[in-house]
Amino acid sequence: MNAPLALAAPVSSFSEASVLPVARPIIRFERVEKTYAARRGHPPVTALADISLDVPEAAILGVIGRSGAGKSTLIRLVNGLEKPSSGRITVDGVDVGALAETALRRERRSIGMIFQHFNLLARRTAFGNVALPLEIAGVPAAEIKARVEPLLDLVGLADKRDRYPAELSGGQKQRVGIARALATRPRVLLSDEATSALDPETTDQILALLRKVKSELNLTVLLITHEMAVIKAVADRVAVIDGGRIVEEGATYEVFARPRHPTTRSFLSALTGQSLPPQIADRLTAEPGDNRAAVLRIVFTGTHATDPVLSRVSRLLAVDVNIIQAQVDEIAGAPFGVIVISVPGDAPTVAAVRNAVERLHLSAEVLGYV
Ligand code: ADP
Ligand code: MG
Repeated sequence: MNAPLALAAPVSSFSEASVLPVARPIIRFERVEKTYAARRGHPPVTALADISLDVPEAAILGVIGRSGAGKSTLIRLVNGLEKPSSGRITVDGVDVGALAETALRRERRSIGMIFQHFNLLARRTAFGNVALPLEIAGVPAAEIKARVEPLLDLVGLADKRDRYPAELSGGQKQRVGIARALATRPRVLLSDEATSALDPETTDQILALLRKVKSELNLTVLLITHEMAVIKAVADRVAVIDGGRIVEEGATYEVFARPRHPTTRSFLSALTGQSLPPQIADRLTAEPGDNRAAVLRIVFTGTHATDPVLSRVSRLLAVDVNIIQAQVDEIAGAPFGVIVISVPGDAPTVAAVRNAVERLHLSAEVLGYV
């Protein structure tokens, strides 16, 4: 009964991804620990413990974690605002933790950063804010003009050139922040909760802009967030940070398809389509038991997200498949579907269904039994 399935098997994005060459890491954390010294009445805080993490060239790596997980510390280590207690952080081979102040200031020109609250100067226009890092770097006025105007154009603010921050919306302010971060032509862009102060629609526009500038300028981006929706919209890779440790890391697709750590699962459950309907969730048990049905989560990725896989499985295995939930979504611009089904819960049937799904290079996970 396997032969027709084998003939029908599509090439999934998982197998395509596995043959892609691995890009060179641009930002690299090697066994990094960061402990803040004790202060009056406060014990020392280990904000980061044993962090090893690579951001590949021209990729967007999203780091997601709850408040206090160590995200801001992680990003501040990259531009040298904090020094590691041990371990090494390199940016394109340069050990940023070891740089003296002058060298660090020069290195920061190749590392742009954007912030949650934009950090614009109220008394400078959009043009003046974008020009600031160039003025500090001693770039002549004519060249500043020649560089700032195309940047304002790139972020869609050519007509707001002479506006002050108070005259701009949140999204426009963040566009100024992005143009300013790009003024010194960095190779690396750091984003610390850059969309957390924006409404959902503006967030989508800013995230789309980040993807655009990343591709046009071949940037390597490290962004931190507490929202899985941000990861889903832009990140090629994701790292989940919890209590100062990376608990899970991988291509966003694969982490969404096969989350392993409870923290990752809980972030995913906040996204629509990732949590079970309550009437199923309340009855779900880990034990198979008599006459129980097995609940499976199947993830469809890449161009096969809409393949009629289920009907094929159902027909070929001659088992009843009930669809509990189905959703087709997008991750970093590519289709991604999640279907939750129930099938008869006896071990041979569950094994046959899983086997059939996995032969199609899709992942099937048994969530439990009802
Ligand atoms: P996040 O950005 O994920 O909210 P942070 O990196 O800001 O997390 O903080 C991680 C931990 O380090 C928290 O327990 C925080 O209180 C502590 N921390 C951050 N900055 C300092 C500091 N300058 N001095 C002492 N403790 C700090
Ligand atoms: Mg923070």
